[in-house]
Amino acid sequence: MLPDHIANQIAAGEVIQRPASAVKELLENAIDAGADEVRLIIKDAGKSLVQVVDNGKGMSETDARMAFERHATSKISRIEDLFQIRTMGFRGEALASIAAVAQVELKTKRREDTAGTYIEVENSKVLVQEPAGIPDGTSIAMKNLFFNVPARRNFLKSNPSELKHIVEEFIRVALANPQVFLSFISNGQELYHLEKGNLKQRIIQLFGNNYSTRLVSVQEDTDYLNIRGFVGKPDTARKTRGDQYFFVNNRYIKSPYLHHAVMRAFEQLIPADSFPMYTLFIDLDPARLDINVHPTKQEIKFEDEKIVYAFMQSAVKHALAQFSVSPTLDFELDPTIEKLDAVQKPRTPERESAAVSSSLFKTFSQRNQAHLIESEGELKHWRSFFEAPETSPTPSQSEISLPFKHPISQDAVDFENLVQIGDAYILVPRGKGFFLLHQQNAHESVLYQRFRNVNNENRIPSQQSMFPLVVELSPADALLMGELIPDMMLLGYQLEDFGKNSFALQAIPADLQEGNEKGVLENMLEQFKHFSSDINLTSREKLWRSLSCQQAIRAGKKLESQEMRSLVSAFLEAGMPSQSPSGRSNFLSYTSTELDKYFGR
Ligand code: ADP
Ligand code: MG
Repeated sequence: MLPDHIANQIAAGEVIQRPASAVKELLENAIDAGADEVRLIIKDAGKSLVQVVDNGKGMSETDARMAFERHATSKISRIEDLFQIRTMGFRGEALASIAAVAQVELKTKRREDTAGTYIEVENSKVLVQEPAGIPDGTSIAMKNLFFNVPARRNFLKSNPSELKHIVEEFIRVALANPQVFLSFISNGQELYHLEKGNLKQRIIQLFGNNYSTRLVSVQEDTDYLNIRGFVGKPDTARKTRGDQYFFVNNRYIKSPYLHHAVMRAFEQLIPADSFPMYTLFIDLDPARLDINVHPTKQEIKFEDEKIVYAFMQSAVKHALAQFSVSPTLDFELDPTIEKLDAVQKPRTPERESAAVSSSLFKTFSQRNQAHLIESEGELKHWRSFFEAPETSPTPSQSEISLPFKHPISQDAVDFENLVQIGDAYILVPRGKGFFLLHQQNAHESVLYQRFRNVNNENRIPSQQSMFPLVVELSPADALLMGELIPDMMLLGYQLEDFGKNSFALQAIPADLQEGNEKGVLENMLEQFKHFSSDINLTSREKLWRSLSCQQAIRAGKKLESQEMRSLVSAFLEAGMPSQSPSGRSNFLSYTSTELDKYFGR
């Protein structure tokens, strides 16, 4: 038998894993109570306070007290029972769980009652219950999460990371309930103020004004399911993932499978490594869902996944095809789509010109040129990096005795006979042997070391942009960017917080070519998030790694001998590190002795 309080705490840990779990449960309760105004207030990323205030129907005195009682979990007495809970779901467990692992203050009043109720709970025990004069509705404040479970408390991540989870939960609730006014205040600052409206308005409030003319409506009703929502026009696709939401029966779900269906619908319309915004609602008979849901209730199994996939793909394709107006686009149309009204109608001059001025058409007609421009831009960037004044323009034989930090053969490197192999490797003759380096891995190492050596006295020089670029990020990305600004300054990026999730990029590193800064920043954030699962890395370390990945010359890029010489020289100067920051090998090497031995000479 497990002692009661232990069982309670363990069960609570299943429901409330982090501040964001409480945010989700409290917001959902407020909406279940019929509120149309809900305020979320947090302090210290929810670690010291998560409070939700609503104008819903409120609770009677008895209901208020009962709300913290355990239902299903009161039956837990053995460890095995906990595994049962995993599959049963948690109806009626959220408040009881919160009360087991935090200090809770509840204020609630029904419209029909003259006085409300005030309750304080700690360690699942009601400490105070008294009548109180309060407005209609409910306010629940959860303080000092895990104050009585230090192991759990220590397990929480940094504030920016916990805040990101909270923002995510908030956005999901906000998208699923556009008819509800929502405000979100973090440490006294209002991060979101979302007026009541329709889904389109909600999306624009959340993800930015640039969507106001760039949303494609998706609406497909069938006997089996209905799909509705919006996708971003192809020109809004970004290098960073995020802003992609599926809801099944108004509940947020994660589904890599359905994500794939949407990406298939966008195929050929957007570059391969970019992602469109989508917010899509699937409504279907709950009987068509597998009831064995994941405990966090974010994963879901459809009775027939393939059908849902096919519907999803065609609904999005259909929407994109209607929006594109003209059938002249170079993507293969589904036989079903070819039958559509918009595709079948004869082309008139008006329709033609509408099609040509549509941003989709522009994306198409510019696509190939964009590729050209991009690769040329990269090449310029690459050149300018190595033509920067601090690197010797053409190292000759006499200049190659570089200070080695690594006990590596001091044999002379033959800079005149470098050979690029497969557009990815550089063969470097050295003495009577050679080494072979991987251009991208090696360049990542060079940049990484350069970034590491940066400090207040020794910054990477910046060049002012002629026209500062303003980038608008998602609120979650903006929070992250705000944290990174001081370190990015040292690395030559001058960013200024413009408010409303936007930043002005005033200057970039002096040795980077202007152009595509937006892409660079977005990729950098994406990379940074990729590393964020590794809690052992400091944020500086993550920044160095993501920026070096981001700026490094790519494998597959043909290099001129001048560029090869500069890379090899910089790599030698860096001390020939054997591994790149991402843990890949930088080079292999054979001395003449090793070669002779191999060939039996
Ligand atoms: P569940 O939502 O699954 O019923 P919870 O533990 O989240 O379980 O809530 C317990 C009960 O407390 C709810 O069923 C509801 O009756 C009441 N309750 C919780 N939050 C509110 C609220 N904001 N307004 C009115 N009633 C609430
Ligand atoms: Mg609930």
